[in-house]
Amino acid sequence: MERELTGAITRSFGRPGPVDAMLRPPCEVACPIHTNAQRYIQLVAEGHDARALAVVRVTNPLPQVIGRICPHPCEEACRRGDVDEPIAICNIKRVASDGARAAGLGFEPPKIEFTTGKKVAIIGSGPSGLGAAHDLALMGVRATIFEKQPEPGGFLRTGILNYRLPKDILDEDIEYIRKMGVEIYTNADVGRAVKFNDIMAEFDAVLIAAGLSESRPLPIPGADLPQVLLAVPFLEAVNAGREVPGLGKEIIVIGGGNVAIDVARSARRVTGGKVTMVCLEADHEMPAHAWEIEDARAEGIEIVCSQGPNAIMGEGKVEGLQVKKCESVFDEHGRFSPTFCETELSVVPGDTVIVSIGQMSNLSFLPEEGPAVNERGILIFDREQCTTTRRGVFASGEVVTGPGAAVNALASGKKAAIAVARYLGVDVNFRPEPAAIGEVPADVADKVKKAPRRRMPARDAGERLKDFGEVETGLDEVDGRCEASRCLLCGSGARYSQLKCIACLTCVRVCPYGAPWADGEGLGGIDPDKCQACGICFTQCPAKAIDLTVMSEEDIAARTVAAIADSGNGELEFGCWYSQSRVAPEAAAVSLPCTGRLSVRLLLHAFESGAKKVYVAVCSEDDDGHFVHGHRQTRAAVADAQKALGEAGLDPASIELRIEPELKCRKAT
Ligand code: SF4
Ligand code: SF4
Repeated sequence: MERELTGAITRSFGRPGPVDAMLRPPCEVACPIHTNAQRYIQLVAEGHDARALAVVRVTNPLPQVIGRICPHPCEEACRRGDVDEPIAICNIKRVASDGARAAGLGFEPPKIEFTTGKKVAIIGSGPSGLGAAHDLALMGVRATIFEKQPEPGGFLRTGILNYRLPKDILDEDIEYIRKMGVEIYTNADVGRAVKFNDIMAEFDAVLIAAGLSESRPLPIPGADLPQVLLAVPFLEAVNAGREVPGLGKEIIVIGGGNVAIDVARSARRVTGGKVTMVCLEADHEMPAHAWEIEDARAEGIEIVCSQGPNAIMGEGKVEGLQVKKCESVFDEHGRFSPTFCETELSVVPGDTVIVSIGQMSNLSFLPEEGPAVNERGILIFDREQCTTTRRGVFASGEVVTGPGAAVNALASGKKAAIAVARYLGVDVNFRPEPAAIGEVPADVADKVKKAPRRRMPARDAGERLKDFGEVETGLDEVDGRCEASRCLLCGSGARYSQLKCIACLTCVRVCPYGAPWADGEGLGGIDPDKCQACGICFTQCPAKAIDLTVMSEEDIAARTVAAIADSGNGELEFGCWYSQSRVAPEAAAVSLPCTGRLSVRLLLHAFESGAKKVYVAVCSEDDDGHFVHGHRQTRAAVADAQKALGEAGLDPASIELRIEPELKCRKAT
């Protein structure tokens, strides 16, 4: 976790909840690898893509990959969802990496010193193995990956098609890890090319991150016909550009998960023919992500729900799939336990069947002396310690956790890296699991200005079926910044000092969101669930008892000095993220969430720092701006600062208010 913000988000002074508990934005808590999304979103809002990418990299060794394929659990937790729609966090991560990539910045890894002298072998180069190798390198432990495929990446390479994850993007993320000193041997099939026990003898520890490399077969009549294929070899062949023997023009895909969707979309591109998915689940129960299902349907794929495969029809060649009605998929405890109506049969016509009902591991490389597997052939594993039954052998990723998103495999690999490092005697810092701040109270949510979520642009369905080119084309610079500026900066608003407070209650009076509180006995505070980080209390507090966590007074002052030093003409603009427009393009700029957080002190400080002219962007009076009363605060602070300049014998017109020409971030796309 990036330390920059920690400690600032503390709730104390008698309110319910643990004193000095570190409360983090819920997006960060929900992220399996706890990426500081708020921080990189803020940097994208300001236009600092390479710095944003650097923040992503603190926890995420595959930033470009995850920025494209993550199912973004952070967005489900996003508090902006309490107001209108969650921030498009995943798309913003892509904005950061695409922007940095275009600028040629952010792709040189740190120089690693392998000071521990320890060596770890990792079996498998999927997200779990790569994540573990990356983090071990950062801890000074040399990692060597053994990958049985000709190229690294595991299922990221063999299972995810170019239209979702271009290979050059995957290559770049892997190359970064390689440059950190991680060795990757390809065509290194453990058990064949190299024996497990030989690896054990050479390395200080072994991590099994072999993933689920084989498709589960479907034992029904007709499954041995030559036109019945399995998902994993099919995807491997398509990904490698090989011809798929036995593929016809009328494809039936059995399965309703994300892999089945990828199989169907690939088959549609390869054959140009009809593709029908058949799954047990009802439409709303399908395990595939809703947006994947939507994309598949947009590409003309038919989905037949609530049907179970009964038999594959045909003599010598596939003629269709006989299905039986699936009455329920889960039992009363939510466990997978499908029931069927055996008499309600029908046939889905087709000349090829591709089975995509799940994947399993291949642990045939393990020697007799272990690590041990259970009666179902699954590795025996301690979830907390990431250990197996054999000393020095650890495991991570889908091989032990079962199928899931790449980011979960990454998280598992990172956790295993810590376990391995501790086993090797490497000093590893303890990082507590973060806790999230609460929901946005309904009365506060009502007051937050609505702003439409920016939609990810995508190639037209007819166009994208012609090739395997990337479907989503990425938010452009303006949309990326506008989307980022929708962030509520949860938990990063006003910081309050009881010691400095003189109990004047100004903050209680001026806050438009009712966040500051006082109990009449000399205790007070600011409720982080309510605070919107507008800064009004900070500008008004006579005792300087309030500062802001993001864009503090000190930070704004430092940016002011730097901007004036950079400006050729001594002109400075204080602008607003939310408009993404400039009111004085010829001036150097300091961009703020809202100019309402400018205090008179900060405005005068600009002149003390050498500014000759200061422009302040402001919303028109008939528009309440991003924050309630924000523009009134801006106008009041500028009027007071002009008066102060006049009293000091300077020209009050040296500060000029200019109306934002356009509030780009409030327009729908
Ligand atoms: S405005 Fe400042 S001094 Fe007054 S009550 Fe609020 S924190 Fe305390
Ligand atoms: S005035 Fe603004 S910054 Fe201060 S507590 Fe209220 S919402 Fe937070």
